[in-house]
Amino acid sequence: MRKKIVAGNWKMNNNLEQTEALLSELSAKLPDTHAEVVVAPTFVNLTTAQRNLQSSAIKVAAQNMHFAESGAYTGEISADMLMNIHVDTVILGHSERRAYFGEDDALLSKKVQAALEKDMTIIFCFGEELEERKSGNHFSVVESQLKNALFDLDATAWKNIVLAYEPVWAIGTGETASPEQAQEMHAFIRKTITDSYGADISDEVSILYGGSVKPGNAGDIFGKPDVDGGLIGGASLKADDFIAIIKAI
Ligand code: PGA
Repeated sequence: MRKKIVAGNWKMNNNLEQTEALLSELSAKLPDTHAEVVVAPTFVNLTTAQRNLQSSAIKVAAQNMHFAESGAYTGEISADMLMNIHVDTVILGHSERRAYFGEDDALLSKKVQAALEKDMTIIFCFGEELEERKSGNHFSVVESQLKNALFDLDATAWKNIVLAYEPVWAIGTGETASPEQAQEMHAFIRKTITDSYGADISDEVSILYGGSVKPGNAGDIFGKPDVDGGLIGGASLKADDFIAIIKAI
């Protein structure tokens, strides 16, 4: 059985007090669930989050990291530093990192390698832009994003990979992929992995959907057979919305 996961990507939101308040509300209201629940606060609040969630089932992830072990990379954070504060999960390849910080498949491949060297879990994000969907290229775009960053991995590495399909046109726009569009792409992604690694591997990979998931649409999207959970942006900033989304899985 594949793991079900609901992850909240807080992006550049929530100062220290807001982080503490949201975490304690989430901990208090967390329902009994078979899903793994993850939150990704900003770097400066990771230590606090990790400490405050010590007795909670909620896991903490980072939103990004650098590929180098250490050294002269002003402003950057390494896998070692994350592991040192017991953060063993990292989001890589988010479309905002790709669009605003120039992260491309080659760079992401290095980051994936660096995270795997420390045995971290990676929530790897990818997805097509609106023009690419309109022109019918969405499958080939997604396939190349996956192949360029992940398909040189050994089969054993896939136990550390969680995929997050996030069509760029649905992120923060209020427009979601329909459950059918999500399922169609997720099935394609799983088949792409099957073709290279076999069904034993692809059956075990959790594929999350991201892009304007809300309490009102989460159930229908999570109900699709190849959708194993969600990566939630805006709606993860409000405890009640995030809890409702967790309950929908
Ligand atoms: P959204 O963001 O839920 O606000 O659309 C999703 C994401 O960027 O991961």
